[in-house]
Amino acid sequence: MTTTQNHVVFGALQENVLSRLVEMCDVAVNGDSDAAASLARTEVPRLVAGLRALVLQHRPDENGQCVQCVAGRWWRRIAVPCHVLLELQLSMMKYDEKPIRPSRHRARTRRSS
Ligand SMILES: [Zn+2]
Repeated sequence: MTTTQNHVVFGALQENVLSRLVEMCDVAVNGDSDAAASLARTEVPRLVAGLRALVLQHRPDENGQCVQCVAGRWWRRIAVPCHVLLELQLSMMKYDEKPIRPSRHRARTRRSS
């Protein structure tokens, strides 16, 4: 795969995940109770599975540095915690300060029949 193709695939994957997250947030915030309950039962476990897989990839090596995030030559590496896990933790802790604001008109009103 060429660098350009890799950028295209990366961008498509990122956009797909981000749009799905915004859609889930939209339903949770703006959807009716049935839609929110349906989302909680179907999509939240999928989201947890995805986050769990990501979190488990970020584990320390023998030097305590994240095996996924460590980069650069060993003599230039600084002992810092995994920036992905830090960002995840901070984003969850500070969500109320900077919530995702999905548009109101996109809320699904899926009802069970
Ligand atoms: Zn990491």
